[in-house]
Amino acid sequence: MKTDILSLLPHEIAAFFPYEASYRSVQIFEWLHKKNAPSFDAMQNLPKSLRHDLDDVFFITPLDVIESHISSDETIKFLTRLNNDAFAESVLMRYKHGNSVCISTQAGCKMGCKFCASASGFQRDLTPGEYCLQVYNAESAKNVVLMGCGEPLDNFDATLRFIELITHEKGKNLGARHITVSTCGLVPKIYALAELELQINLAISLHATTDELRQKFMPIAKKYPLSELISACRFYVEKTRRRITFEYALIAGQNDSPAHARELGKMLQGLLCHVNLIPINPVQSDFSPTPPRETKIFAAALAEKNIPVTVRRSLGSDINAACGQLRATARTLDLYDNLS
Ligand code: SAH
Repeated sequence: MKTDILSLLPHEIAAFFPYEASYRSVQIFEWLHKKNAPSFDAMQNLPKSLRHDLDDVFFITPLDVIESHISSDETIKFLTRLNNDAFAESVLMRYKHGNSVCISTQAGCKMGCKFCASASGFQRDLTPGEYCLQVYNAESAKNVVLMGCGEPLDNFDATLRFIELITHEKGKNLGARHITVSTCGLVPKIYALAELELQINLAISLHATTDELRQKFMPIAKKYPLSELISACRFYVEKTRRRITFEYALIAGQNDSPAHARELGKMLQGLLCHVNLIPINPVQSDFSPTPPRETKIFAAALAEKNIPVTVRRSLGSDINAACGQLRATARTLDLYDNLS
C-alpha cells in the first residue's frame, strides 16, 4: 500500500530514500506544501528517477472540489471529495483584517450536539494532509479555524500533525497564533494539549452555565461536567499563558437570560478568556436564535462582570455555510446530485 506523503514531515520523507541527499526531502515538502503540486511529475527540480521512485511509494491525497457555493456576503463553501468514501466541507470567510478558512477535521462527527447539522453520520477521521489541502485550496487564507465538521481533539494526533505541517518553515509557514482549535470540551485532551504549550488559540464550545442545561444540548457534557471542563481550561491558561475563547451560542428562551449571563460571568471569573456570543443558526426547529435586543442585554450583563465579550457575525448562512450548518456526508452529496 502506498503512503500518504502529504501527512509527512521532511525527515520522514527522507527516511524512505536514505541514498538521496537530505535537501531532496525539503524540496519535495516545498512542492507539496508551498507550491501545491498535484503530482510528483510536476516537481521539476527533482531528477526523473526520483520522481518515479516517489510515485512507487507515495500517493498525494487528491483535492477534488466538486461543489463551491458563494454567499451574498462573499463567503465561499467548498465541498470536497476526499476519496470514494468521504467528503469534507470547508468555508472561506472574508474579513477586513484578512481571510479565514474554516476546515473540517472529520467526515461527519461523533459528538452529537443537538443544535448542529454535522452531528450525525460519522464516516472517518480526516488525515493531516486532508486538513492541509482544505487550507491550500482557500489560497488567500491568513487564519485557519478548526471549526468545520468534526471534533479536532477526537482526531488528536492528526490535529497535532497538521499544526506541525502548516507551521513548518519550509511549507506554508503559518504562525501558530493564526490557528484556532475549537473543542466541545474533551477534558483529558485539553490537559494533553496544555502540556505541549503551543501558541495556537483554543476555543471551547460552552453554550450553557449548568450541567443540566448543557447536557440537554451536548451529550459530551454527561462525560465531563462543567467544573472539570473549567478546571482544565484554568490549567491550560496557566501552562500556555494564552487567552481561551469561549463560544456561547444563544438559544432563545433556553440559555440567554441576563441571569444566565451573570452565571457565566461568575464561572469564568479570574480566567484569562474572551466570550464569543453567536445567535444560534437554526438547523433544527427546537432551537431559534436570540433576537438582537436580548443578545445586547446578555453581552452587557457579561461585560458588567468584567468578562471581555463580542457578538459574532454569522457569515454564509444563505448557503448553509454558517456555524453548525456543515454536513458533508454522502447524504449531502446525494442531495447535491439531485439538484444538479
Ligand atoms: N467540534 C468542535 C468544532 C466544530 S463546531 C466544537 O464543538 O467546538 C464549531 C462551532 O460551531 C462550535 O462552537 C459549535 O458549538 C458551533 N455550532 C454548532 N452548531 C451551531 C449552530 N447551529 N449555530 C451556531 N453555532 C453552532
